Amino acid sequence: MPWRIAVPADKSIAQRALILSAMASGESLLRGALGGLDTRSTAAALAALGAEVSRPGGGGPGDLRIFGRGLGSWSAPDGVLELGNSGTGARLLAGAIAAHPISAVLAGDRSLSRRPMARIARPLARMGAAVEYLEMPGRLPMRVTGGSLAPLVHESSVASAQVKSSLLLAGVGAGVPIEVREPTRSRDHTERLLEAMGAAVAEGEADGGWRVRVPRPPSRLEPIELEIPGDFSSAASLVTAWVLGRPGDAIEVRGVGVNPTRTGFLGVLSRMGVSVEVAERERRAGEAVGEVRVWAPSERLRPVEVGRDEVPALIDELPLVAVLAARAEGVTTITGAGELRVKESDRLETLARNLQRVGVAAEETPDGLVVEGTGRRLWGEVRSFGDHRIAMAFGALNADPGCSVEVLDGEVAEVSYPGFWRALARMRSGEGGGSPSQATAPGAGPEFDAAAEDTPEARPDPDCLVVAIDGAAASGKSTTSREVAELLGYRHLDSGALYRAVAAQLVADGMGEGALGEMTAEWVNGLAIQLLWKGGRMELRSRGRRIAESERRDERVNAIVSQVAASPVVRDYLLPMQRTSAKGPGLVAEGRDIGTVVFPDAAVKVFLQADARVRATRRLLQRGARRPSEAEVGAEAAKLLLRDRRDASRAAAPLRRATDAVLIDTTATSPSEQVRMIVELVRGARSS
Ligand code: C5P
Repeated sequence: MPWRIAVPADKSIAQRALILSAMASGESLLRGALGGLDTRSTAAALAALGAEVSRPGGGGPGDLRIFGRGLGSWSAPDGVLELGNSGTGARLLAGAIAAHPISAVLAGDRSLSRRPMARIARPLARMGAAVEYLEMPGRLPMRVTGGSLAPLVHESSVASAQVKSSLLLAGVGAGVPIEVREPTRSRDHTERLLEAMGAAVAEGEADGGWRVRVPRPPSRLEPIELEIPGDFSSAASLVTAWVLGRPGDAIEVRGVGVNPTRTGFLGVLSRMGVSVEVAERERRAGEAVGEVRVWAPSERLRPVEVGRDEVPALIDELPLVAVLAARAEGVTTITGAGELRVKESDRLETLARNLQRVGVAAEETPDGLVVEGTGRRLWGEVRSFGDHRIAMAFGALNADPGCSVEVLDGEVAEVSYPGFWRALARMRSGEGGGSPSQATAPGAGPEFDAAAEDTPEARPDPDCLVVAIDGAAASGKSTTSREVAELLGYRHLDSGALYRAVAAQLVADGMGEGALGEMTAEWVNGLAIQLLWKGGRMELRSRGRRIAESERRDERVNAIVSQVAASPVVRDYLLPMQRTSAKGPGLVAEGRDIGTVVFPDAAVKVFLQADARVRATRRLLQRGARRPSEAEVGAEAAKLLLRDRRDASRAAAPLRRATDAVLIDTTATSPSEQVRMIVELVRGARSS
């Protein structure tokens, strides 16, 4: 009997269903829609745009009820729409917002802020929307201002379902004809949902590519009731582990979406010598749902060639193809997959690098990969680079009994597939075979909150690699440190935030500057500052009350923080907290005295410096200024220099470069170059 399993809901479908329901007229019920973080951030954004989003009583944990007030009904959100890691959420919402006479700022995490947005912004602008980048050209954060749009025929140079969907939503939302042409057909979930909600979508081959049109957008979209199908991509990662780890055995994934624009991976599997069977059982909102059965062959896999035309239907599964190729008998080539370079990581680079690390001959090409399979034992440590698909692919590779591959920062897999590591462990142990009960409950989101631990009791971990990044105010420490930590899967300690938390509590207690001179150890102890770690991020509390970033960055806090930080009792109080943060594979700690006082033995030490005017401009832009004037820059530079002088001239732990710290001048180096340099230093330290 095959080993049976169900997988969490498909977030690609869930996000589209959420957005379209918020554009519909009436109440939609989406079962299992609220899975990982991506769908949560999209749902929160829709609520901020005025849709009524609620949890229905008596439903499952991931069920959502959405009440839409019809096309054009959204209102301007109060704050920034934070889309976290969700590229689908950001790009599709941008299109839907463009159809409304409102302005909204979309932002994302570091990884999403590196991904290209011009591909949607340009055609949206041609329709009449205004898109303004607030930091870097072509990247989030960006402000979208919509209104009445003009019809558009758009020729997309990439087969991107997000581009296509964004424009379809803009056209349907604004009630204007829209046509999108793509070089090859990308996933069509949006088209299917639109049809299920009453819009007529015409599509077919045209000029050697694929053409999708909504020539007569409807005046309203009907609400839907939909149980989100299981995620084919999650299923594929378990299937890969099975094929590598359980030769001769069969696995069956139930209740999974088998939309042909998503299942290209199965074709590749069968070319590799794996028997595959798909049984379609039902249609949900136009989506085929059924079972996938796979028999792992007893003999070595065959190598394959994967070309441009089939890439869109297996784009998310290419990392799995790469690890399967690593065990095949011969050379596999993947071409036409340049899109992988702009995913959560540059997947061509991260795949090649990780495969090489465990002993596979693999090379990236400009738009693909060449992997020479081997039957030799593969072993070593790899990193996900913050990319869930990379984490899952190498997790699956490790299911092969001839491999001993550890993904050092694998937690990120849980963001897209909650329960992935548990399912993998069960599969390896053979536990629960034949029962479908090991399905991960949809909606059992990542357990970030439950993982919170109070570090004052925790012990420092001698195996934790510490990266100390010091420098003056606005020298680029925080962006760079955050990004390095994210790439390496390390914790990120922003020590300035600790001093700010103390200052913020003083402000909250109504203490004026006069009180600063009287701070005693007892008094500081009474603030009961706690540093909690939640999924690699820090949270600060004082007397049990959470001190949010906005409070720590308040002007009144800015005014006193360097005086607070000059107090030896405050520094002594905050020191153990910083040292015990060194837990897990690594810690990136940033501040002024990290390399000199807090972690004098840090494996990597860096000191960042930059011209004061450049730093001042950065600060002003961070605060939302558009084009700061010479005078504003000058005034800000003077404030920064004053703060530097205070930090450098104080008696307790003054700001200075550790003698063994590598100096990086950030005046003219970009954040990504700085990150690259530091990651290289870490690699060097690791290998020595
Ligand atoms: O880095 P940030 O600007 O948030 O830090 C706020 C203040 O905390 C700094 O101006 C400095 O006075 C102080 N600080 C410190 N030692 C550290 C980090 C910050 O004295 N390690």
